[in-house]
Amino acid sequence: MSAEEPLIADLFEVDKRLSLKPVVDFNSYLRNAFGEGPCRCHRCAEGGDQSSYSHTHTFTFDGRPWHRRFASTAASDVAQVLKKAWLSYTKADLNLVGNLDLATLKTFTEAALHTRLLALLPASGLAREEGGQWLLLAQAD
Ligand SMILES: [Zn+2]
Repeated sequence: MSAEEPLIADLFEVDKRLSLKPVVDFNSYLRNAFGEGPCRCHRCAEGGDQSSYSHTHTFTFDGRPWHRRFASTAASDVAQVLKKAWLSYTKADLNLVGNLDLATLKTFTEAALHTRLLALLPASGLAREEGGQWLLLAQAD
């Protein structure tokens, strides 16, 4: 048995976990959490100043404006898909209070979606960053 074999087996193991349905669902959820173009909600349409909002409405990804789809991205919606993906990938329940292990979360989030992930966590109110550490804020189901 060559020394490379366990490494290859490890890579396959990772790939298998990334193709678990809840993980795939989580990534497509992130992809669809934002729509193209700036936010057109009542407040923004009336020229509201985003800097006065508690949560961001319009984002810039890939050099273009995107808006958060409010109807599907309440904190409880994000928590639900995240919990399922977390359980399926790590085989452990995600505690929705306290420190969020962002490094683990990023391992099952497609690299191209990391910007959306980091935008959605605070915009939905599910988590906030404090001194470089992400904190989950408890959500009632
Ligand atoms: Zn808006």
